[in-house]
Amino acid sequence: MDVHGIGMTSRRTRDRLIQRLREEGIRDERVLEAILHVPRHVFVDEALASRAYEDTALPIGHGQTISQPYIVALMTQALLAGGRLKKVLEVGTGSGYQTAVLAGMVDEIYSVERIEPLMKLARKRLREIGCRNVHIKLSDGSWGWKEHAPYDGIIVTAAPAAVPPALLEQLAPGGRLVIPVGGPTMQELLLVQQTDKGPVQERLELVNFVPLVRDSL
Ligand code: SAH
Repeated sequence: MDVHGIGMTSRRTRDRLIQRLREEGIRDERVLEAILHVPRHVFVDEALASRAYEDTALPIGHGQTISQPYIVALMTQALLAGGRLKKVLEVGTGSGYQTAVLAGMVDEIYSVERIEPLMKLARKRLREIGCRNVHIKLSDGSWGWKEHAPYDGIIVTAAPAAVPPALLEQLAPGGRLVIPVGGPTMQELLLVQQTDKGPVQERLELVNFVPLVRDSL
């Protein structure tokens, strides 16, 4: 596969995507820079690679999707707006694309995915593009990843009906949680900040994520 930027993955194709994200209101230059450089075509099936720089979600198998670049940018921007993050928890690794975009801007990422083949493929692809600060495990992320808590930032890329309490418990004081919350077809993207007075919630946008699935233990 072409990972070096000719044809469909050319600089011009990627520049067009960045232009579009700017038009849609993404302002954080670090986020735009990361999206320009992370090869999204590596995170989709070869048959879909020619569409990798369109601003759209694409299927990644097992009924799941790689998030739309605009949503990845919006969530990353919201997560980073409070300053540098050392430790981040991601729930729903999926393709690993959101993980890769974040990886260059934070110290360590702990990411959990409940579908084993997706977890393995994401791990392989992240290694291939040189992300060394990403740690992935197979599990139900509704429970977070306790061993490494607390986290300065938590990003959830599948939608529960309500914020899972374990995630709030694992969020450090001053930490930021970005999470879609709602029903199966539409959710509100929330930014929850952990303050002295408890969690404070802000609504960012209406979104459409796959559901956060709870595995019975
Ligand atoms: N950010 C990913 C989005 C993948 S879609 C990307 O851009 O590729 C959401 C992912 O969340 C799916 O892979 C799904 O299997 C996973 N998921 C759903 N419920 C989960 C849970 N309880 N714990 C961990 N992962 C979960």
